[in-house]
Amino acid sequence: MKMVFETSSRIPPLFLDLSKVIAGEINCGQEILEQYSTDGSPYHILPQAIIYPKNVTDIKHVLSFAREYSMPVTVRGCGNGKQGGALGEGIILDMTRYFSTIRQLSMVDNIVTVDAGVSVSDLADKLEGWGFELPPLLKSEKKTTVGALFSTRSVSPSTFFHGSIREWVESLTVVVDNGEEHKIADGVTPSGRLLGIYQSIFPLLSDYSAQIRASKPVCAEDATGYSIWNTSIGPRQLIDQLSGSEGTLGIVTTITLRIIPRRSHTETTFIPLTGANLRATIDIAKEHKAESLFLYDETFQNLCERYHKSLLPVFLESPYILVVTHKDYDKMRLRNSVSSFIQDLPTEEHFIKNYPNDEKALRIMSQEFLHELISAYSKESLIPSASTEGTVVKVSDVPLYLEDIINATGSSGKITILTGAIGSGHVAITTLLDPYSRLYENDLLKHQEQIFSIVKKYKGGLSSSSGDGLTRALYLPYCYGESTETIFTKIKHAWDPSLVLNPGKKIGVTSSYLSKHLHVPRPATEKP
Ligand SMILES: Cc1cc2nc3c(=O)[nH]c(=O)nc-3n(C[C@H](O)[C@H](O)[C@H](O)COP(=O)(O)OP(=O)(O)OC[C@H]3O[C@@H](n4cnc5c(N)ncnc54)[C@H](O)[C@@H]3O)c2cc1C
Repeated sequence: MKMVFETSSRIPPLFLDLSKVIAGEINCGQEILEQYSTDGSPYHILPQAIIYPKNVTDIKHVLSFAREYSMPVTVRGCGNGKQGGALGEGIILDMTRYFSTIRQLSMVDNIVTVDAGVSVSDLADKLEGWGFELPPLLKSEKKTTVGALFSTRSVSPSTFFHGSIREWVESLTVVVDNGEEHKIADGVTPSGRLLGIYQSIFPLLSDYSAQIRASKPVCAEDATGYSIWNTSIGPRQLIDQLSGSEGTLGIVTTITLRIIPRRSHTETTFIPLTGANLRATIDIAKEHKAESLFLYDETFQNLCERYHKSLLPVFLESPYILVVTHKDYDKMRLRNSVSSFIQDLPTEEHFIKNYPNDEKALRIMSQEFLHELISAYSKESLIPSASTEGTVVKVSDVPLYLEDIINATGSSGKITILTGAIGSGHVAITTLLDPYSRLYENDLLKHQEQIFSIVKKYKGGLSSSSGDGLTRALYLPYCYGESTETIFTKIKHAWDPSLVLNPGKKIGVTSSYLSKHLHVPRPATEKP
């Protein structure tokens, strides 16, 4: 007998029939709905039902129900994304309960196939145990899923070297709007509904090719809008569009990723810098085959010295520190390449600190660690402005971009911390705001507008990490022009004409909707 759900008596009549046909579970209890009404963003949206699909047929039933009742369906991993992408007013499809198996590892072909709900940290640990690695995986204490990593086109400090996760995707399976599951891979001819999508997208890209060329951001990896920048025809184009699409075009069920044998030797070099020698140092690191570059500023160093003394080497009054990581299979070869790299640097050698293992660096290079420092500093009374934590500009523009950001934020009286996967021009701008202030919403908007106008000046990208979600979607027409937004809208309609897949993310959000759902957490104690 099928196990319905622990609280089936609380399932509203609307969902009763659905609950009888699916093999997984459905929960409409108030407490659970509240739990799924927030994610890592400052927004709160109450869904109507949480469904844990057990198989693709369940997803098909859910989509058919959603089309019939015009009910939004938002697919969710761990709900840690910071742009509100996993929030929705209808059904939340939680992939972590049943779509959580590592299906196949081929040591001959160097590929691994995983369900979309597999945790990134679990996969990284398993691969390590098997003697493999997947360089773009961001191992973090906070859980994230492989499906979400792909669907937000996540970047890491090694993106400039290894590309984002998108480039490691060999193939994937996706459930499209009518419930059909399709495999997308080189050499697989699209059929059924996917063929229809294919046939509506390619004429569109061809008709608008001049417009697309003109509005392409001048920067590296970027998840803003839909990835329409590769105008070649083929399955890779569809994979590109799905990467970073945040569950608005289809529901990714499995992903096959390339892996490489694990390099067990790592060296990390900490280099103090001024803005003037930043560009040259990045170039030298790249020439010397460094594979991960991360920048942090003086404010970050000060917080670190105060709250995590042992983690960071002490540098006196250095505006920036660049953390450079080299990896190799061979220890001696690694030592030699790092020594020759250090000799070529413009910085005096005794200021450079070098460590033969990267545990410290990995920790420092995570956004998670930054948030830990912020909460230690502010005792939860200030929160970071998540929407500006993922900007990207051309690497050669980085020094000027940083200068502009410092000039713009310096007069606000608020603390701003600059960090970033600088090898690919990614800069996370984290300004601390008081969520209990009457001016919170105003401050947040002002800050976003200030930063995004500088991004626009450099023709960069707004969403290099965590996607557009709710928070950045509003700024897409501002940055890329309304005609580019029209193309994004046509792409959305080609994949999801009933508009049930995660509506309001990427396109179609209004400032009044955001304002209505901005969630200010209650202070634990009354503020003095
Ligand atoms: C502390 C911290 C540090 C971070 N650091 C970085 C960083 O350095 N670089 C970076 O790029 N990102 C970073 N992120 C962002 C984070 O890695 C991504 O947002 C990640 O995707 C969140 O995973 P999740 O499983 O919690 O996703 P969720 O929040 O559950 O979902 C995120 C989005 O993915 C969609 N989605 C989820 N599963 C699927 C699926 N199967 N099919 C289609 N769409 C799906 C959701 O609808 C939603 O739009 C960080 C996040 C945190 C909390």
